[in-house]
Parts: sequence; structure tokens; C-alpha cells
Amino acid sequence: VSADPASGLLGTDRPLAELFDLALVDLDGVTYRGPEPIPGAAEGLAGARSRGMHLVFVTNNASRDPSQVADHLTTLDIPASSDDVVTSAQAAAALLGTRLAPGARVFVVGGAGLHTAVAAAGYAIVASADDAPEAVVQGFAPEVGWRQLAEAAYAIQAGAWHVASNLDLTLPNERGLAPGNGSLVNAVVAATGIEPVSAGKPAPTMFLLAAERVGARATLVIGDRLDTDSAGARAAGFPVLHVFTGVSSPRDAILAAPNERPNYLAADLMELLDAHPTPVRTVDGWWTCRGGAARVIDGRLEWRGVAATVPERVDLVRAACAAAWAAVDAGGALDPNTVPEFDVEDDQRVGRAR
Ligand SMILES: [Mg+2]
Repeated sequence: VSADPASGLLGTDRPLAELFDLALVDLDGVTYRGPEPIPGAAEGLAGARSRGMHLVFVTNNASRDPSQVADHLTTLDIPASSDDVVTSAQAAAALLGTRLAPGARVFVVGGAGLHTAVAAAGYAIVASADDAPEAVVQGFAPEVGWRQLAEAAYAIQAGAWHVASNLDLTLPNERGLAPGNGSLVNAVVAATGIEPVSAGKPAPTMFLLAAERVGARATLVIGDRLDTDSAGARAAGFPVLHVFTGVSSPRDAILAAPNERPNYLAADLMELLDAHPTPVRTVDGWWTCRGGAARVIDGRLEWRGVAATVPERVDLVRAACAAAWAAVDAGGALDPNTVPEFDVEDDQRVGRAR
């Protein structure tokens, strides 16, 4: 299954859960939102499993062990074991193996999840730059402080390879945006001037690691962020289902850069059990998707159609993505001011221009 170069959106007559034998599922914004489960997630994933789809949960969070992630999912009625989870800590440990010999000395900045992953991969964790580590691997943990960042900087200046679990600048919580691993990595980079490599999304490392572990025939990535999940899926060469239950909105999808475009769109994970229609080009530059239609004229997005139900609103977004992406790919411009904010769950906001 490869992306249509004309639009990037794919269609299927069969449920996605039958077309693909492996789904790499993002966590926050896809299976839960903060402490709350996302409606349809547990039911859609259970239905997908019953149709033969294998699930692996893929997270940029390096601070939790796979078993902690699995326990959390299980409490949300999504049964999982640690084998069903890939974290960016594990991906960072795998990345070390592309340059380091087994048993090599590594300095770890991070929490239990990262220490466990690096030790499990067979490296010798050292306590100081004076132990001449060959690599510094850095992941987020609330207890990371200046002493560890300074030790990392000394080691990197002495030639150690700097590997980050992920470069997310922020860590959203109920009080606002806290500094994420990328911000702490940047503190070290400011001192060393040496850019690290990163294992987390949007790098493809975790997706490739998970697909290899399962030995899948056809892999689908599922995410809510275009700049991490969708970009990472494209970098790995896997199609991506974007769900509108998290960060990136329909407007974001319509305006997405080519390397961040999703291949399938859905209101929630119940649509894993459905066929997905393909937008079709018709006369006068209109793209239609069942009852939805859209076109770009002189750089302006126009759309029309019934938008009374959630599926109808998703079809409208599909048509709009196809029209917008085709216009941009043909060398045309798209005025973002003509692309309204749009919520597939709430028709009150349909058509409200910014
Ligand atoms: Mg997410």
C-alpha cells in the first residue's frame, strides 16, 4: 500500500483492520487524553484485534517502563502487556547499537525507563564523564537536574555521541506546558554546540523497531499529531491513519506540509472497522467524497455538502484535503485564511472562518 502522489489520501473497500495486520498506535490524543479515556478507543481497538490486527503502542515518553504503560492501558479497557509497547527509551537503546559495540560505556540522563532500556540492551551504565562513556543518552525524567546535564556536556565535549530519546520541546500537563526533553537537550546543546540524534517521533526508529519485532506484512501508523506521528510514518514508509481526537485539527490536515500529510482520516478509532472512501476529482476542479465536495479557486478553498453528521463532516474534510493538496502539488498557492477551523464532532463550528 503506497500513498497516491496526487492527493496522499487513500481509500479502501475493506475495513482498515483487515487491510493491515499491524497498527502502531500513539497514546496521548489517540487512546487517552490526560487521565480520560477517548470515546471509541477501547471498542475500536478491541474490534480491530478481533479482525486479526496486531496492536503495538508507540510512545515518545521515555520516563515510563513498557510495563507501566501497559498497566495504564489495561485500566482503560485496552488490555496490553509490556511486549505490546515500544518507548523512545527502547528506540534510543536500539539506536546506540548502530554505532556502539555490546558492553560499551554509556552515560544516562533520565529516569528508570531509560536506565532499564539501556541496561537491557547490554551497555555498561557509567556514573561520570570521567569514566569516558562512548555515548550520552538523554531522556526526560522530573528528577533530571543541572549535575546530570553538566556531566553529559563534559562527556560530549570529550567525544561521546549524544543520543536523545526524543526532542519534544514541551510536556503538556493540567497546569500548562512544562519543558520537555527537547528543552533539556537544548540546554546541553547550548553548552556543547553539538547536535544530537533523536530516536523518537518524527524519526522513524520506533516504528521500524516495532514492525520488525512483530514481523508484519502491512503496517498502519495511527496518530493525532501531523508533525510527529504522520511525519514519522512517512519517514518509515508506512501509511498513517490520523484521528481527530487529539492535537492536529481538520484545518491542520488541510494545510499540512507534504511530508506530514495523513493517508486516512477518522473521527475516532471506531473507523478502524470501516471502509474508507477515496476522494475523486470531478468537473470544474471539484473533489468529491460521498456527499462532500471542495475545490481551490484562485488560492481560495471552497467547500459544499451536507455536514449534519460526524461521518459527513469527515467526508467534507477528506474532499478538502484532496482539493488543497492537489492545488499545492500543482504549484498553486492556498490562502490559509480561506481554510476555516472545523470540528468533526461539533457542527456549530462548521464554516467559521478565522
Ligand atoms: Mg499523541
